[in-house]
Amino acid sequence: MSPSLVSRSLCLRNSSLFKSLCSNSLPEVPCKHRLYSSIRSGTQVEHLSTQPQILQPDAKNGLAEDLTFVPNSSAVSKTALEKLQDFVSASKKLFVLTGAGMSTESGIPDYRSEGVGLYARSNNRPITYQDFLRSPSRRRRYWARNFVGWPRFSSVLPNASHWTFAEWERAGKVHWLVTQNVDALHTKAQSRRVIELHGCSARIVCLSCAQKTTRDELQQRMRDVNPQFNSESQAIAPDGDVILSDEAVAGFTVPSCSQCRGMLKPDLVFFGDNVPGDIRTSAYDRLQESDAVLVAGSSLEVYSGYRFALAAKDQNKPLAIVNIGPTRADKLAVLKIDARISSVLPGIQVT
Ligand SMILES: [Zn+2]
Repeated sequence: MSPSLVSRSLCLRNSSLFKSLCSNSLPEVPCKHRLYSSIRSGTQVEHLSTQPQILQPDAKNGLAEDLTFVPNSSAVSKTALEKLQDFVSASKKLFVLTGAGMSTESGIPDYRSEGVGLYARSNNRPITYQDFLRSPSRRRRYWARNFVGWPRFSSVLPNASHWTFAEWERAGKVHWLVTQNVDALHTKAQSRRVIELHGCSARIVCLSCAQKTTRDELQQRMRDVNPQFNSESQAIAPDGDVILSDEAVAGFTVPSCSQCRGMLKPDLVFFGDNVPGDIRTSAYDRLQESDAVLVAGSSLEVYSGYRFALAAKDQNKPLAIVNIGPTRADKLAVLKIDARISSVLPGIQVT
């Protein structure tokens, strides 16, 4: 059974979620929040997605363009663009895989890029799933930093490439888009056929009773129990993390589940954790249904992404890659373009 994406509009105009998105980032743009349910084989996977309803991306609406975290790259050649145009034109059901390189032009750094990635600029490393579970102090530090980083991270806007993929979807070109990113920028840009491989930072899950809530609700709870905590973020990481001193973290109170007092965790895949089986299977199925694979903004160093390049090869489906710098799957690709994504994708015609 092919998947169907069912959207149920929820009127959340009175919620703090709505107010925070509307008032912080897009004051003049009408907003709507929806609860998307991806229904597959009788199993419903709830996917709480929050996005402003933006009709046209333009300067007035704040189309993101921040090149601080974009690595240096050469201009794309006319020949490369023509080859990509041919690749896209030949596909009737394109499978798109995106990674952190998609969001660098929105002002979110990636992990691995030379000079500008998080690993190049800092000794800080993302918390592992094991540390999060076992260490109350690491957990406190994680949430304190996340609390400080959230207002800025949650108000980041899609860039031209996010809008382009949403447009390709509406034109019937993109069969499905799978992203390794947890920043919700594809759904903010109105893409609908999206699988978030590593979850989404805008959702919170209780590890005891599985209750799901929004990150904005938790932000309010954290604000309520930490009235003294008003550090302001200057730097963010791909998952919304920021850098704070141990002194700043001390005394931060971490709320527990409002229903069962259980431990709360962002609904995303930490380093050291695995992509949930149903998400992985669903993404594989979508690739199986597709006829070509386009990777944008991922070095594919993490196996959860690289496996899709291997699957494309196994299924004799052509693979194209747009990424600054080498990727693990360069040797598998029929086309590799080493350039800034927004200098490439918006020039491709899909009609
Ligand atoms: Zn609970």
